[in-house]
Amino acid sequence: MAGTGRFVVGGNWKCNGNTASIQKLVQDLNAGEITADVEVICAPPMIYLPRVQSTLDRKYQLSAQNCWVGEGGAFTGEVAAEMLADNNIPWVILGHSERRALLGESDEFIGQKVAYAISKGLSVMACIGETLEERERGDTLNVCRRQLQAIVNCISPADWAKVVIAYEPVWAIGTGKVATPVEAQETHAGIRKYMAEAVSPAVASAVRIQYGGSVNAGNCEELARCEDIDGFLVGGASLDGAAFVTICNSA
Ligand code: PGA
Repeated sequence: MAGTGRFVVGGNWKCNGNTASIQKLVQDLNAGEITADVEVICAPPMIYLPRVQSTLDRKYQLSAQNCWVGEGGAFTGEVAAEMLADNNIPWVILGHSERRALLGESDEFIGQKVAYAISKGLSVMACIGETLEERERGDTLNVCRRQLQAIVNCISPADWAKVVIAYEPVWAIGTGKVATPVEAQETHAGIRKYMAEAVSPAVASAVRIQYGGSVNAGNCEELARCEDIDGFLVGGASLDGAAFVTICNSA
């Protein structure tokens, strides 16, 4: 842990679940004991957010998985940051690689989304990370810098207090192929160094950087020991209440 504040673990439920399975997951999470000094944020699919909000224990915070880039209006299918704030949803995940790849969200668009969400009082888990091809080309940090620069261009140094960076190598997401602690630590340190140059040394040392990509109950402890890993963003394993609680307590 290098950033300021508590270890921060997000559970990204993605587009999974139904009423019955989500009710079970909430029960398992409520029964779990969060022993560590950790901030935990669950991100259910949008349509289940109100139901989860009314049943999930307050030891967990809530996040949306996306929001619109600006004010609401004629944007079919979108949900505005104001609407999340109006419903007391304090967090939003932005820039997830699935949205970048499948929905064509550009670096610039994501930078604008982060800025707009912050302007409406939301906190953001901002996702970055390279594909396998980019890693093999030796471009890991170049990609992370480019994705972060687009956010740096849109927000003020003070705004970074509302942002957690989620470093998620695309080749590790949902593949069971986790980055080794050495690989993850190396990239996290590179991201922090970049933040010192691009924003300020103070922001670089304060910002929390989550690792995401095939984190599970078995590999979380070793990763959590890495100096520059300040939390996790968990996909698949966040759908298993017991496993997720273990991950939350790994710090
Ligand atoms: P995973 O997903 O844990 O299933 O690899 C992580 C994420 O996409 O946030």
